[in-house]
Amino acid sequence: MARGPAMPRPSLKLALAFASHLLIAGLKGEVLMIIGVDLGTTNSAVAVWRNGRAELIPNALGDMLTPSAVSITESGQVLVGSAARDRQSTHPHESVTTFKRRMGTQQTVKIHGHTYAADDLSSLVLRSLKEDAESYLGETVTGAVVTVPAYFNERQRRATRRAGELAGLKIERLLNEPTAAALAFGVADRAEREPFLVFDLGGGTFDVSIVEVFDGIVEVRASAGDNRLGGEDFNAALIDVARGKADPGNALAAADPIIAQELLRAAAERTKRALTDAQSAPFSVTWNDRTFSAKISATEFDRAVEPLIERLREPVLRSLRDSGIRVETLSEVVLVGGATRTPAVRRAITRMFGRFPNTAIHPDHAVALGAAVQAGLLARDAALDEIRLTDVCPFTLGVDHAERDSRGAMRSGLFSPIIERNTVIPVSRVNRYITVSDNQRVVQFGIYQGEAREVSGNVKLGEVQVPVPPRPAGHVAIDCRFSYDTSGLLEVDVLVPETGIFKNLVIADDADTVSPEALAERRAVLAELKLHPRDMSENAAVLARARRCYESFLGDQRHQIGQATLDFESALESQQPRVIQAARAELTAILNALEGERFL
Ligand code: ADP
Ligand code: MG
Repeated sequence: MARGPAMPRPSLKLALAFASHLLIAGLKGEVLMIIGVDLGTTNSAVAVWRNGRAELIPNALGDMLTPSAVSITESGQVLVGSAARDRQSTHPHESVTTFKRRMGTQQTVKIHGHTYAADDLSSLVLRSLKEDAESYLGETVTGAVVTVPAYFNERQRRATRRAGELAGLKIERLLNEPTAAALAFGVADRAEREPFLVFDLGGGTFDVSIVEVFDGIVEVRASAGDNRLGGEDFNAALIDVARGKADPGNALAAADPIIAQELLRAAAERTKRALTDAQSAPFSVTWNDRTFSAKISATEFDRAVEPLIERLREPVLRSLRDSGIRVETLSEVVLVGGATRTPAVRRAITRMFGRFPNTAIHPDHAVALGAAVQAGLLARDAALDEIRLTDVCPFTLGVDHAERDSRGAMRSGLFSPIIERNTVIPVSRVNRYITVSDNQRVVQFGIYQGEAREVSGNVKLGEVQVPVPPRPAGHVAIDCRFSYDTSGLLEVDVLVPETGIFKNLVIADDADTVSPEALAERRAVLAELKLHPRDMSENAAVLARARRCYESFLGDQRHQIGQATLDFESALESQQPRVIQAARAELTAILNALEGERFL
């Protein structure tokens, strides 16, 4: 137990934050290369602040988006991106996607006898993005600003930091995704403006933020969202529509269930994108010698996603309520995330806000570009002198306490908020509590994050105990101070003014804390894995795609794919770049003719 001064000390965390800023300033002139990373559920992107502007960095295939997919071969070679995404239907037990949804949980996947948690897999994506950036910039990347959904809790944020550490990438800062988008849009137009709303619907998460740019300060006034809503749910709805039309189970009866699911998902993705600008589109899955096909109209799709569209409302209303801003005073609505391209979503937005949304910045790129702006800010780029960033705590933080009801009975397990959601951070707030029973010897605070009235409905972050002198109930006061900084670290100080006994806790979640030994061990396991050679990425991606197509087409088409694959494989063996390139182009042309341009 720590004894301390009668008054809480200034937060150590804040002092450290200043120190790291000085360090960055001190390093100026030396090589400092911080990238901005949008580590998405479905797709990731990387950008850099250079020559006074944010610039996207293409991956080895020349794409600006890299699917957040990882595939590990038997020999321990790691494929990241499109190749991994394509391998999901041919090698489902070696390939993983949407692991961001499991960030901060204990859930793992097993590949070739090794277990991987979401942070391990994310670290492989980060490693690949870092390599893309280094190859593009011709410089070593020293650190990164990585974005996270506003709704990520402490555990999920910590897991994201760990992913960086495992990738050998110093995470300079975690930035809320909508804040990053706001930065991208804010910089695009420096004019002073009224509050605007960032509407981000990605593959798996939905975030709404109300942002203001005033006197060069970007301020997030409120954020709300649903971390279980995104484009994947639209795919699921589409699969249900297709199921109602015919029985895809029949076509896929003998397929591995994971493969079947992946084939359906890929078909839904294709249909969904086609329905973005068509009145109807085919939904078709082929496996072995069976084809399942149905025509789906835009109207049917719209009807099927109505419940999802309905769920977009509440977070919007909540963000407006929390910020005290009326919808009429919003100057505009900016769209972020691939799923905002869905016509039903656009219509709902237009209806909700009574105007058309702003898409000046491509919804797929805004978050990565904003992260690069933040990286430029950290590097103190002169072009960004005018901009500062304020951020809010995206959820309420508090302790459990007991309250007496009107008949005098004690109710425990109730939540007492100390820092309310959408408070501008860094922030430090203190609440005073009193003892509840006579001669109580100890006061114990459970520390929680969430919005529920009962603490059982919130996420427990930790616990702190402090001894108190024996007195009648209500006669001992205890001050509980929460300090929350911009990187999402919470520090709790508990002080008994009467005795001066002081306890300090920087939140450590027992269930989640990874010991330095365990971390080192995981780093060693991951170091065994080698990223697939970058100069071979395009070949690997085309091969993975050809194998997937081979499995899902039949007859002449299948034969044609098989033949071109064989030619391509022989070309690879020849090791002659020109021959390889020609064969690759031919194979790609055949695949494009069969299923359209490759989509992510
Ligand atoms: P995340 O932030 O979760 O990584 P993105 O912002 O990259 O996700 O969005 C991915 C989602 O966008 C996917 O669910 C994808 O199906 C959807 N999407 C991409 N293009 C379109 C389109 N043209 N129409 C509808 N949805 C789309
Ligand atoms: Mg996103």
